[in-house]
Amino acid sequence: MTPTADQPTILWFRRDLRLHDHPALDAAAEDGPVTALFVLDDVLLRADAGPRTAFLYRTLRALDEDLRSHGGRLTVMRGKPEIVLPALAKEIGASAVHVSEDFAPYGRARDERVEAALGKAGDGIPLVRTGSPYAVSPGHVLKKDDTPFKVFTPFYRAWSERGWHSPAQTRPGSIDWHPIDGTDLPHDPKTSVEIPDAGEAAAHRVWAAFRKDDLARYSKERNRPDLDSTSHMSVHLKLGTIHPRTMLADLGRAGEAYRRQLCWRDFYAAILFHFPHSAHDYYSPQLKGMEYDTGKQADERYDAWREGRTGFPIVDAGMRQLIATGWMHNRLRMIVASFLVKDLHLEWTLGARHFMDHLIDGDLANNQHGWQWTAGTGTDAAPYYRVFNPTLQGKKFDPHGDYVRRWVPELKALSAKEIHEPWKLDPPPGDYPAPIVDHDAERKEALARLKAV
Ligand code: FAD
Repeated sequence: MTPTADQPTILWFRRDLRLHDHPALDAAAEDGPVTALFVLDDVLLRADAGPRTAFLYRTLRALDEDLRSHGGRLTVMRGKPEIVLPALAKEIGASAVHVSEDFAPYGRARDERVEAALGKAGDGIPLVRTGSPYAVSPGHVLKKDDTPFKVFTPFYRAWSERGWHSPAQTRPGSIDWHPIDGTDLPHDPKTSVEIPDAGEAAAHRVWAAFRKDDLARYSKERNRPDLDSTSHMSVHLKLGTIHPRTMLADLGRAGEAYRRQLCWRDFYAAILFHFPHSAHDYYSPQLKGMEYDTGKQADERYDAWREGRTGFPIVDAGMRQLIATGWMHNRLRMIVASFLVKDLHLEWTLGARHFMDHLIDGDLANNQHGWQWTAGTGTDAAPYYRVFNPTLQGKKFDPHGDYVRRWVPELKALSAKEIHEPWKLDPPPGDYPAPIVDHDAERKEALARLKAV
């Protein structure tokens, strides 16, 4: 059947919850009046302890408000996408379903199932993929011999040389919307975490404030958690309330250090696309045989790490920031990950799971590969034998102790000189735990285990 001009089309929103710079929405609008749909997929919602879902629901509500201001609305349905989409498409007589392409293992398999089910519905309804959540989609930055890069710096060089499209000129006010009823969003899950402002307008606000106040000092200060001068854009990039290309266009030639960080995001998405086993398994298999601790003491140490009671102030500050805010500074993510793997001898997968339970920006590609990078089992590996010293990291990146003071109030009264080594005080602070391990001894132990494999 040839589509008619008034035949609706479906824009199935996923990680692209915005109405500007949206190539898939533009493609849908060219086909006919647009029905905006989001599917609550239990498989994805199960993988989260609360804060990320709360942020998602708020983002969906913001998207619905934006759509209503242009004469549309967001239809929300719950169920398996391969059942929901064909049923709805048939019911409203849709000519096509449009999406931004998903490159992660679950999303790709899901989209293939949806595509097959749509093919069987009616006269065969196409699933049309346009654009993606990345500046350059996975699979497009390759070595000269067409094989994937495994190391970041040459990927960055090729990515920069290749470049990316300018932002799409999507005009939601000119789109012919085809609103239909759907279920209302369920209530936000209970969480004590302070959820950041959600939605496309909030993303642009945060981005503009960062450019005005912090971008100029970003390259110098991005490793300083006490100064909090990173952009906090990860939660918005996660749900696509802003496209990275919009950000790159705003940066222009400025912001080299920031552009490089955005490239890490494309790099890890590409690694996951080419090597999907790295989502849950060792990217580099040599270290698979590493001996890890298990049993009662290991469990107790894991709990101390999760709750920020290790007796190492910088580690505890990071872990408490994660629980309180659903976010952690990048330098801290590296410090606490190294501590779990190399000081406590626990497997990186345990830490990655805890992060995914709490991070609002929790993203499979960035998280699993960030963990593997720190654990020394990933791409471009910081070699396993490079072990972070938590005390030196604290002194270097939180030189005045302000970050620790903020998250570990038991140490509030200590001076900059004392705060990263409270165990040296006589007497040590009574309400703060003594270190649960001896870093120097555990470093040697980690290296001995490395030698053994
Ligand atoms: P900024 O410094 O302002 O960076 C700007 C953007 O660049 C970020 O929003 C992010 O999209 C991207 N970016 C920056 N650093 C990295 C990086 N190392 N890898 C990939 N992208 C990067 N990031 C996530 O988005 N989700 C995760 O689940 C996640 N888990 C991580 C786990 C570990 C163990 C490590 C070491 C890093 C992880 N990161 C993750 C990367 C990084 O820590 C966060 O992206 C960053 O802290 C988010 O804060 P920001 O937006 O203020 O960052």
